[in-house]
Amino acid sequence: MECPVCNETMIILEYQDVEVDYCVACHGVWLDAGELELLFGDRALTDGFMTAGDDLRAAREAARRCPICEKKMAKHTTGGEAPVLYDRCTRGDGLWFDAGELQAVLEHGSAAPGGEEVSRWLREMFPEHGRTSPE
Ligand SMILES: [Zn+2]
Ligand SMILES: [Zn+2]
Repeated sequence: MECPVCNETMIILEYQDVEVDYCVACHGVWLDAGELELLFGDRALTDGFMTAGDDLRAAREAARRCPICEKKMAKHTTGGEAPVLYDRCTRGDGLWFDAGELQAVLEHGSAAPGGEEVSRWLREMFPEHGRTSPE
C-alpha cells in the first residue's frame, strides 16, 4: 500500500494480530476499518470518541487520498480535551493519521482498555517521532 501523503510504500507492523501500515518516510499510519477498535479493545467507546468532534469540512490541512479507493478522505476530529484531526475514508476503508496523530488519539482516548498499552508500543516502535507538545 502506498502512503497517501508521500506515495512511499508503507511497511506493515503487527500488534496483537492487528496490521498497522506505517510510512517510514513521513511517519504516518494507516489503519483498515475496524483496526482502531481492535487496538483500543472497545468498539463502542472507540466509535464514540472518534466521532465526538466536529467534521471540519474547511480544515486547512490538505485533503489526503485514501490508499485503497483513492477518493479524497474526509477530515474528522476526535472528542477529548485536545481533539485530534484525522482523515477517514468516506467509503469506510479506514483511517489515516499523520505523524504523531495516532499516538495523540491513543493517549487522549486512554479510557479505552487498550489505549495506553498500544500507545506505549508505538512509542517503542517509533521513538524518533515523539510528539512535540507545547505543554
Ligand atoms: Zn508517507
Ligand atoms: Zn477508501
